[in-house]
Amino acid sequence: MRTSSSSTPVDKALAERAEAAYLGLALGDALGATVEFMTPREIRDKYGVHKEIRGGGWLRLRPGSVTDDTTMSLSLGEAILADGGRVEPLSCAMAFDGWMRAKPVDIGNTVRRNLVAFRRSGEPVAPPSEHDAGNGAAMRVLPVALATLGQPDAAVRAAVRAQAHVTHNNPDSDAAAEFLALAVQEGLHGGALRGVYRRGIQPFVQKSPVFAYRTRRRENPSGWVVETMQAVLQSLLLTDSFEKCLIDVVNRGGDADTTGAIAGMLAGAIYGHDALPARWLKALDPVAREACATQARKLVALTSA
Ligand code: MG
Ligand code: MG
Repeated sequence: MRTSSSSTPVDKALAERAEAAYLGLALGDALGATVEFMTPREIRDKYGVHKEIRGGGWLRLRPGSVTDDTTMSLSLGEAILADGGRVEPLSCAMAFDGWMRAKPVDIGNTVRRNLVAFRRSGEPVAPPSEHDAGNGAAMRVLPVALATLGQPDAAVRAAVRAQAHVTHNNPDSDAAAEFLALAVQEGLHGGALRGVYRRGIQPFVQKSPVFAYRTRRRENPSGWVVETMQAVLQSLLLTDSFEKCLIDVVNRGGDADTTGAIAGMLAGAIYGHDALPARWLKALDPVAREACATQARKLVALTSA
């Protein structure tokens, strides 16, 4: 991963890729939410191949609506911006708590439990737990990746854990979230898929073999971050475009809004803005679209401040 500091001011291509990563997250979330918790066979029976942003799903979403994957990321990003680019556990916990009070359309069990505990104790760091290996901390990691661009890997990893441990204090969750932030950064710096593979994915699965994905096709990925990442990495490596990657991953069913969101942030960073399908951008909720694009640019601007 790169550790050199980025140029000042933030170059246009980088800002555009950052925006593509954030929009990619929201597009994957909106696309996948329709088929969340369905099996691949149920998806095939109902849609053939699910490839349009159409809302519905178990949350009965309006077409283009996003879920917690995007809205938690946005609330985290706001907290980071308010702290001038620092990732402070207490600010993150307060932001997530405010997000929960606003009654989001969906919320993960681990997130809810540890935010309720924070309300009681005021302690923003959740206790370590071998059970808290859900994908909730990984799915919202993008604003940290953008705010820490150009920082040494160790600083990026520490910032990732600072937000992650508010709800998920678990080594597998950490490994996935840290990998994602660094891989997104690699993509933003112009690393094509091959570079992201060599410098990001390969060392990640070597160091954390639980995430190895070269077994059979991962379908119905659960909210366990290991299954989530296996599905995402398979889809990313089996395809050669943003659109194909997202269609491949959400049609695996399971926690499809989250696999879509994570695949979307990676593929957005790697393939860039021009690769985002225009029909999907048009279908995306305009408020979410604007919020993601604006926040992406503000976060990367921090690196030149
Ligand atoms: Mg969701
Ligand atoms: Mg989900």
